[in-house]
Amino acid sequence: MKSILLLAGVLFTTSCSTTQEFDRKILDRVHDNEVTPTTPEEGKENQKLKITFLNVGQGDATLIMAPNNEIILFDGGPPGAGADTIIPYLQSNNIDQLTHIIATHYHADHIGGIPEIIAGPDGQLDTYDDLIPTGFVYDRGEDQTALEQAYYPPYADATDTFHAILNPGDRIVSEDLSFEILAVDGELIDGTIIDMGDPRNENSASIATLIEYRTFTLFIGGDLTGGGIDSPDVESTLAPLVGDIDILRVSHHGSRTSTNQTFLDHTKPEAAIISYGEENDHGHPHDEVVKRLIDNGIEIHETNDGNVTIEIDSDGKHSFSQ
Ligand SMILES: [Zn+2]
Repeated sequence: MKSILLLAGVLFTTSCSTTQEFDRKILDRVHDNEVTPTTPEEGKENQKLKITFLNVGQGDATLIMAPNNEIILFDGGPPGAGADTIIPYLQSNNIDQLTHIIATHYHADHIGGIPEIIAGPDGQLDTYDDLIPTGFVYDRGEDQTALEQAYYPPYADATDTFHAILNPGDRIVSEDLSFEILAVDGELIDGTIIDMGDPRNENSASIATLIEYRTFTLFIGGDLTGGGIDSPDVESTLAPLVGDIDILRVSHHGSRTSTNQTFLDHTKPEAAIISYGEENDHGHPHDEVVKRLIDNGIEIHETNDGNVTIEIDSDGKHSFSQ
């Protein structure tokens, strides 16, 4: 088992890029164990943690806005969603700086929009309004399977000088908010290694994260698989390591390759969010997954009906809005 690595509490800074000479080289950071205390801007603290599952069509993008104004984005939606949906959403919420982006895996519906987000409102990389995170763009690193993904090269190019690799056991900590990395590329936090198949299954390689804020817990596993249709079963072995959670971001848009009964037996979520686009080519979410969630008494929210937002108060109590 890998040792627990405290990654960050990255210094929060407000954007002043309009008056600051842009130099990408100064943003070339080192991934290390240093913990820097967060410094919320005076008077701007929010009382609640806010998590929005954005309606990006067929894909995923989840924006986490912490009480100390740190902003963490899980996945950037499909190509077009970064410019058309996510940038406008950030602007409408007066967000001009991201702290971290986490790319769960390298399929287009998760990383296609990330270069557009980095490019900022003008849509051009290497200009004054680039949305460079103050922290990192986290991913699993480059491997042969990554290089075979159509949208990996533009993603890797856009994030080249400020990306960092996550491993199981890593923790990203920001005051009361923490992100514990439970699985990366089939390697679990307890050291178990799941066979990723041949050829390796990109969905199964997804980074799985347990997000905790006080007593509140949320699981985001990208497109993590649970067996069926040539998909390795990562979920069943991971499930007891996740434990009881409040909310499940349903993996793989409600595909029948994910969200198996063993996973639900261990995690016991009270509500689930399914992110998918209207009349998508895959038929997501699949009927048997929706039925399984209902049969387990789990309340379902869908981004197809619009952004889904959860607000969590300082006691860890949460409420949904859409
Ligand atoms: Zn996907």
